[in-house]
Amino acid sequence: MTQQITRSELDEAVKQSPRKWVYLFSEGNAKMRELLGGKGAGVAEMTNAGLPVPPGFTITTEACNAYYEAGKHFPQGMWEQALAALKIVEQQTGKGFGKKDNPLLVSVRSGAKFSMPGMMDTVLNLGINDETVQGLVALTGDERFAYDAYRRFIQMFSKIVLDTNPQDFERVLEHYKEQAHVKTDAEIPAADLKNLVVEFKQIAEKQSGEPFPTDVYKQLEKAIEAVFSSWNNKRAIDYRNFNKIEHTLGTAVNVQSMVFGNMGSDSGTGVAFTRDPATGEKQLYGEYLLNAQGEDVVAGIRTPSKISRLQQDLPHVFQEFQDIANRLEQHYKDMQDLEFTVERGHLYMLQTRSAKRNAGAAVKVAVDMVEEGLISKQDAVKRVEPNHVYQLLLPRFDDAEKKTAEKEGRLLAKGLNASPGAAFGKAIFDADRAEELGKAGTAVVLVRPETSPDDVHGMLVAKGILTARGGATSHAAVVARGLGLPCVAGCEGIRVNEAEHLFRVVGSDMVIKEGDDISIDGATGEVFAGIIKTVEADYDKEVDLKKLLTWADAERKLGVWANADYPRDAKRAITFGAEGIGLCRTEHMFMEQERLPIVQKMILAKTTEERKAELDKLLPFQRSDFKGIFEAMVNPETGEGYPVVIRLIDPPLHEFLPSYEELLVEVTRLETKGDNPKELAEKRELLEAVGSMREMNPMLGLRGCRLGLLFPEINVMQTRAILEAARELAKEGKKLQPKIMIPLVGHVNELKEVRRQLEAVAHEIADEVGGAIEYKFGTMIELPRAALTADQIAPVADFFSFGTNDLTQTTYGYSRDDAEGKFLLRYIDGLDEPGAKQKVKILPFNPFQTLDRDGVGQLVRMAAEKGRQANPHLELGICGEHGGDPDSIEFCHMVGLDYVSCSPFRVPVARLAAAQAALTSHERDK
Ligand code: PEP
Ligand code: MG
Repeated sequence: MTQQITRSELDEAVKQSPRKWVYLFSEGNAKMRELLGGKGAGVAEMTNAGLPVPPGFTITTEACNAYYEAGKHFPQGMWEQALAALKIVEQQTGKGFGKKDNPLLVSVRSGAKFSMPGMMDTVLNLGINDETVQGLVALTGDERFAYDAYRRFIQMFSKIVLDTNPQDFERVLEHYKEQAHVKTDAEIPAADLKNLVVEFKQIAEKQSGEPFPTDVYKQLEKAIEAVFSSWNNKRAIDYRNFNKIEHTLGTAVNVQSMVFGNMGSDSGTGVAFTRDPATGEKQLYGEYLLNAQGEDVVAGIRTPSKISRLQQDLPHVFQEFQDIANRLEQHYKDMQDLEFTVERGHLYMLQTRSAKRNAGAAVKVAVDMVEEGLISKQDAVKRVEPNHVYQLLLPRFDDAEKKTAEKEGRLLAKGLNASPGAAFGKAIFDADRAEELGKAGTAVVLVRPETSPDDVHGMLVAKGILTARGGATSHAAVVARGLGLPCVAGCEGIRVNEAEHLFRVVGSDMVIKEGDDISIDGATGEVFAGIIKTVEADYDKEVDLKKLLTWADAERKLGVWANADYPRDAKRAITFGAEGIGLCRTEHMFMEQERLPIVQKMILAKTTEERKAELDKLLPFQRSDFKGIFEAMVNPETGEGYPVVIRLIDPPLHEFLPSYEELLVEVTRLETKGDNPKELAEKRELLEAVGSMREMNPMLGLRGCRLGLLFPEINVMQTRAILEAARELAKEGKKLQPKIMIPLVGHVNELKEVRRQLEAVAHEIADEVGGAIEYKFGTMIELPRAALTADQIAPVADFFSFGTNDLTQTTYGYSRDDAEGKFLLRYIDGLDEPGAKQKVKILPFNPFQTLDRDGVGQLVRMAAEKGRQANPHLELGICGEHGGDPDSIEFCHMVGLDYVSCSPFRVPVARLAAAQAALTSHERDK
């Protein structure tokens, strides 16, 4: 007969409280992620779908926040609700918490709205003490199992709740294993485990200064507190900072009746994905261990078996698991990450959540699911993180270099291909050192025996991760995939010596020490000594990605253009789907070897005539540069050209001259030697000229349109080069759309004057060739004054392009180069405040990477609105680095810009991000 469960006590406890803090699994559902956390919402949904889930309840994220608000005290009524819910779990399981007969043991797990794998704390086997352990022995007839559960509990509780040093426990455990001449924990005899329990309690007592709690309710209370507190441990905070997860969400706490995977060979535990998270292949992918508890799989201490083997080990369980996996995928319409335990032949589901996956898998799964009829094209577009697309285009090892490395015997070992991508860097063996070097700009590969959440700060800055132990679902692998970092895990061919900061290669005398270069390939699992250079990915072969991006194109409103200075970049941009060039920085062309001497002479010319003579020499170079870019942007079949925005010279002229300091040294040397008066005179003259052009603050000095106003000949030459190039191609039947852009305008009169200069040149050429050449004339908006007076500027321009690099510099008053090197990263990371537990963060993110909507964004919005009002035909774009950043692209969509322009590699990212912005704004409008 099924037991009648009474919920009245829980209802009563809720009535007596200001809020419902506790939900039975049967009371929740998948939509309640915010309140119950991902894990709580997942088990609730599975419970209600009738899947075998061990009964339990969830304490809400609101309770966690209330706990902090009350100065780390449980909110009123929470504990009473938890006790009432626990009674119901006792009824559901037919067990008693703290009862000697048939004792109920529970797990206490964290679970936030967004999955933060391994960042917060969990306590298993809670409810065990000297009495209940007897009940467990009687119940299972297995003394070894019962005492093993007990010693695991003490070990875990001490680490998580009592904050004791876990190594002290490990040392004693190792000692017992040596004494008993056994290798694994599972072989320690029952009698020894009993002694271990006594010793463990003594260690805990000695370290914490109080007796180990035998009252199971005390255990529960303390474990819940510890999980709440783990929301604010360092690694969780680091993880949230990196993943831009709000710190105010709080974690839920899941209290769930335990099932045991370590009750013999018909028991086990594992984790599995419904599809392969590395490739997206539609097949169960995962690992399990027979006769083990969950932490054994995740910690990577024993090497687990592939999930497909379960078919042989426990065929019924495998079948049931596969059915459930399919049902969950169909239900959630997304690839799932599942945790399960088998207790004496019975399967229990412990968790389901949307699976983390790498870039390739994300794209393949999304496209496959559309083709399987599971989701719509729009859903697929929304599913894939734009930055994942970027990873797919990331460089891989150069084949030839790799072959050479193999020939030279530099292939050290092969581990698991845990997260794809190739990386090289200095081998570093601890996370603190990796963080220090990584932040200073050194490429670092973090090498660890295995990683734990305490290593996350080092992983965040590393280029790649290499571990000697652990499977495809070990901590290192899961975190690396989430971060999109290359990772080789479980590389058994190396022996890491943490103390000496080195690893040895098994079966050879090779040693890699701290600071030695290594290269890893997370797609193949290979580890090499030395640096192997990388090459670009083959976009043509990314069939699924191309499909996805075509679907994205159908949704987006923003055009996607590219910043490209050379025909080579322009061609690549077109391959990636760019629809125009939004910024061609012409000054790069001045820097090339054969041109620089002419440029220098032009700058140092004493008269306008001299300057013009040098500019005449530069003209053919520039004309052929522009021709190259225009040609790259013409469709060879139709002859139609995409728009190309060419910006006239921007940086201060002294950037093209030798350094003042070096010249000074040279002059002093020549003066001292006194043997070359001719060279000395020349160098002195040059020094004087360079000195006269020096500026205190070149970022705000003679640059941008100011140059062309003082030296109009430069503008004249560049305009002529652009228009003549266009004219030559037009004669070949190519339809071009040249756009000339003026940088750093602050006052409309600057723009008016440049426009007058340009129009004069255009007329001159029209007279020469007997016909006008069409072009558009526009300006960058990269100074606050330009944004504020956009209504005055717009009538003089055909287009605005927001130069948000300079606009950010000038709005904040930060010089980017100085700021990033000196204080900006500290502002973002947080400043240490004496006595404070957390660092004080000044800025939430780097405004040079993600557009600051509150400040810089307001200027963009205002300039766009004022500009359009004053000139309804005004075209609006952005060409600062933000044009390739998904969050900033969303803002550009919201403000109603016409296009974003970004580096060629970010074009696919921008296509997807623009589509997502369009799709989610539809949703918001509903
Ligand atoms: C800008 O300022 O945003 C811009 C694109 O120009 P540059 O980076 O060349 O200064
Ligand atoms: Mg600029």
